[in-house]
Amino acid sequence: MANLKAITISSGKERANVALADVPKPVLTSAEDVVIRVLCVGLDGTDREIIVDNFARFPEGKSDMIIGHELLGIVAEAGAESGLSRGDAVTALVRRPCGDESCVNCRSGQQDFCRTGLYLERGIQGADGFLCEYVAENAKYVVKVPAECLPYGVLVEPQSIVEKVWNEAQIIQQRMLWQPRTALVTGSGPLGLLAALTCRTLGMDVYVWSKSPEGSLNADMIRSIGGHYRQAGESAPGEFASGLTEYAQQLGTGFDMIWECSGYAPLGFEVIPLLAHNGIVALLGVTPGQGRLNVPSDMIYREMVAKNKCIIGSVNASRQDFATAIQRLCTIEQQYPGMLGKLQTNRLTPRQVPEIDFSRISIKAVVDFVSPAEWASLL
Ligand code: BGC
Ligand code: ZN
Repeated sequence: MANLKAITISSGKERANVALADVPKPVLTSAEDVVIRVLCVGLDGTDREIIVDNFARFPEGKSDMIIGHELLGIVAEAGAESGLSRGDAVTALVRRPCGDESCVNCRSGQQDFCRTGLYLERGIQGADGFLCEYVAENAKYVVKVPAECLPYGVLVEPQSIVEKVWNEAQIIQQRMLWQPRTALVTGSGPLGLLAALTCRTLGMDVYVWSKSPEGSLNADMIRSIGGHYRQAGESAPGEFASGLTEYAQQLGTGFDMIWECSGYAPLGFEVIPLLAHNGIVALLGVTPGQGRLNVPSDMIYREMVAKNKCIIGSVNASRQDFATAIQRLCTIEQQYPGMLGKLQTNRLTPRQVPEIDFSRISIKAVVDFVSPAEWASLL
């Protein structure tokens, strides 16, 4: 069988070495497997970290790996017991369970809550990813995407991260009657924008605080969905309060829910006093840094206790979150037509990935293995 093109990485001196390599075509190894023709793969902050910060965790015994974890593809070959058919549009979960017998979460299909840290993540940790012409996967981890969602199907994985948080928030907030009316999102990358869009479809007033300039596409998108946008100023390293505290004071309102999507850790602390009574902060960013911060600990402690505040960290997502993500993206597309297409700002060919400059990606980069004009012919 002819070799396929894939994007592989190996450790480099500073940045990782990224290559367009030849790899063998994957095959069905069980009746539950499918082989997927990859249409496109989205890149996010984790890919950036893996490439720019040389942060790969390779499969055991290997010193290279195929990257990419935001998949949109079409089933090319379906095992008899896969429950899928040739021509089905699909995406896939990222995480695979650890092997530890005592990890109750992995043993019950909740590997997004793995207790050992020994899970694998395709394209991220210990397993090849999806930036390849074809990939094979057990149908257990494959999620069908309705054909009409193809134009934004590549956003199902990042949206699943948002859905997991929203689901967790609703479960936790059952501790009382909770009717969130205002949301603050810090960061306006793809995740921040999806969180903002989601909160808008849920009827909340949305405020976004992010480094992108006032006239940027990110800012325009937030305003066009009826959200409020404010550009963050430069904040001094180690300082607790940035202009965000001042902004919130000007607004004169606390936030019922805060989504920290920037990965700038100091914001995770600064936002705590900005929550309304009974509010919840979710931390979703990734940061490889070693920063330190001088925090007003008594005030934060008091705020948390006296106002029933809650902070959660959240990573990865379950199969159910993927299903909810598909529903939500459909709703977003209905309410804000074209917005999910606009968010996919930079379409790349696989050949362009080795030289990728993340500082030039406007919002989201998507790598096309098949040109979008041809997708429909493969269904
Ligand atoms: C992915 C998650 C993954 C996380 C940490 C994110 O970019 O979307 O699925 O769990 O990185 O590796
Ligand atoms: Zn586990």
